[in-house]
Amino acid sequence: GNPHMRLPSYLKTSIPGGNSYKKIKKDLRGLGLHTVCEEARCPNIGDCWGGKEGATLEEGRRAATATIMLMGDTCTRGCRFCSVKTSRTPPPLDPHEPENTAEAISRWGLGYIVLTSVDRDDLADGGAHHFAETIRKIKQKAPDILVEALTGDFAGKLSMVSVVAKSGLDVYAHNIETVEALTPFVRDRRATFRQSLSVLEHAKKEGVRVTKTSIMLGVGETEDQVMDALRELRKIDVDVVTFGQYMRPTKRHMKVDRYVEPAEFDRWKEVAESMGFLYVASGPLVRSSYKAGEFYIENVLR
Ligand code: SF4
Ligand code: SF4
Repeated sequence: GNPHMRLPSYLKTSIPGGNSYKKIKKDLRGLGLHTVCEEARCPNIGDCWGGKEGATLEEGRRAATATIMLMGDTCTRGCRFCSVKTSRTPPPLDPHEPENTAEAISRWGLGYIVLTSVDRDDLADGGAHHFAETIRKIKQKAPDILVEALTGDFAGKLSMVSVVAKSGLDVYAHNIETVEALTPFVRDRRATFRQSLSVLEHAKKEGVRVTKTSIMLGVGETEDQVMDALRELRKIDVDVVTFGQYMRPTKRHMKVDRYVEPAEFDRWKEVAESMGFLYVASGPLVRSSYKAGEFYIENVLR
């Protein structure tokens, strides 16, 4: 692509406002939580934290979604699209993190929380028990909060997928990120498309109600390849799929192949819905957790 390719206007977002957004942001100070929403400067923060228009503060907070990163800020993998820093030997886990995170989240009072993490190939269990303990503690303190876990592939160790899947979560998410043919060029070489499918399939077998995955468009995939990926996902009963535009974090990351038009995102939404996915979010700025709470609270889990 052209290195000076300018961003299309639909990729520019306005500065978020709204009562609910401001209150949620203020609550964060003092709770010691680190959200991906703020740290990755996610363009959807106004939508996810803003709740619904015309809602009271309390309603707004219950309709809001935030994503929390567990297990530190350093990943043992290096995917070509991701700006998280990499090391073979990240610092050890904080044993107080599950308790502290659960306490902060239950006081924060949002309706829907996405927990995600870096990949920890340095740990024998990949951090699965730490993840599960955090979820269990959140559910003990605040059973009404819906919890989505967005995990890595645990290097294909399905018993670790079970540990997380049986922790009391509501949604199990794992991102395939791209089509099968591009996986070796986009994701860390330890991640494979088939391994990711096995994670999603196993979570469902363990009784998780909703499984979910995300695909970035604009990295060089063809329409047929996307169709194949969707068919594979339906075969293993994945419920939710999201499509978003790949955005290059820095010059050291892989290039954007193209900016996908909003109309094409709309078309993928229609295609995927017609294939039987329960819910599809698709748009240039959509990220895996985009407004997840509003959808699940209204349509699936309540
Ligand atoms: Fe946060 Fe995810 Fe929403 Fe972005 S899309 S604001 S990371 S919850
Ligand atoms: Fe980033 Fe996840 Fe890849 Fe780690 S495994 S580099 S956090 S996308």
